[in-house]
Amino acid sequence: MRKRTAILILLAGLLLILALFLTVNREQRFQQHRYVFGTWVDMTIWGVSEKRAHQAINAISTDFQTQHHQWHAWHSSPLTDLNQAIATGQTWNVQQASLLPLLVQAKRFSDQSDGLFNPAIGQLIALWGFHQDDLDNHHAVPPAEKIAELVALAPSLDDIEIDGKQVTSRNRAVQFDFGAFAKGYAVDLAIDKLRSLGIHNAIINAGGDLKAIGQKGEQPWLIGIRHPSGKGVLAACSVSGEESVMTSGDYERFRESEGVRYSHLLDPRTGWPVQGLTSVTVIDRSGVLADAASTALSVAGLPDWHRIARQMGIKYVMLVDDAETVYMNPAMAARIQFPSEKLPKIVVSEPL
Ligand code: ADP
Ligand code: MG
Repeated sequence: MRKRTAILILLAGLLLILALFLTVNREQRFQQHRYVFGTWVDMTIWGVSEKRAHQAINAISTDFQTQHHQWHAWHSSPLTDLNQAIATGQTWNVQQASLLPLLVQAKRFSDQSDGLFNPAIGQLIALWGFHQDDLDNHHAVPPAEKIAELVALAPSLDDIEIDGKQVTSRNRAVQFDFGAFAKGYAVDLAIDKLRSLGIHNAIINAGGDLKAIGQKGEQPWLIGIRHPSGKGVLAACSVSGEESVMTSGDYERFRESEGVRYSHLLDPRTGWPVQGLTSVTVIDRSGVLADAASTALSVAGLPDWHRIARQMGIKYVMLVDDAETVYMNPAMAARIQFPSEKLPKIVVSEPL
């Protein structure tokens, strides 16, 4: 009898351990993706129940949809209303709270990057045919005179005056396009929301632009950085705490004309797409800064990236040129791992 009781207790104990194991395992990782901002947004949450993770993912997905609508540069949106007002010389009262911080930050990043990051060049971006949902990828190069004309109008964030909610532009050629840093800002806001919901371990990845907080259990998050060809992974790095890894590249959105690939990143000084670099990755705590900087450094190119990164206060940069040579500052080189069978040519710069 005693023996049977002992076996029953043992069995009950084993079942309890199994149940605990299953619960813990089930509660560890929850992942979902949704299509927003013209890309797949992948959301991974670690260490809370499926129910809480699901609620959190729904909440941030709703925010993403709202932002996508409010910041859209070519579908009718509060941003196109602002652009319309600027084009007709009116002062505009911005109703959507989320637009103002983007404008304020745009001014700062544009200033720090000597205007290489310039989200006021919406007309040029449209001229190059990038204000379309689906790029047909065979688009004639715009006439050089038209490009020069828009460059000569010199739209810039310096033209903008912000007074409370009132926005005025001294230059009617200013047309905002926030494509270069909106996703970075959106993931910052999403991570803040997750924290307010008591979630401290997560990754939000908007098509290769991502922000992570906390860890994956006992391990730091391991992030893959896409190969500029768009195929496979170029390198990996660990992140923990709060860090954003933002990559600007020409593998997702580009145009082709007579066999030449034109990037969606434009040099505001010339009005022409940047050449030479195929991807630029920046790591920073702030998603919006890392996103703006990855675009600015793509425009700065090999001669100027180091100076602009310093001006923007960036500590980790990796650039890949079209010969697939990788350029990094020493702090970045110390944390990036390449698959040993595919080690690229690496050039390490002076410290930032
Ligand atoms: P993604 O991460 O989606 O590839 P990026 O961060 O590289 O986007 O930004 C690309 C977008 O930024 C372009 O599609 C365009 O809308 C806008 N853009 C292009 N050139 C500039 C520039 N010099 N300054 C600011 N925005 C730009
Ligand atoms: Mg960017």
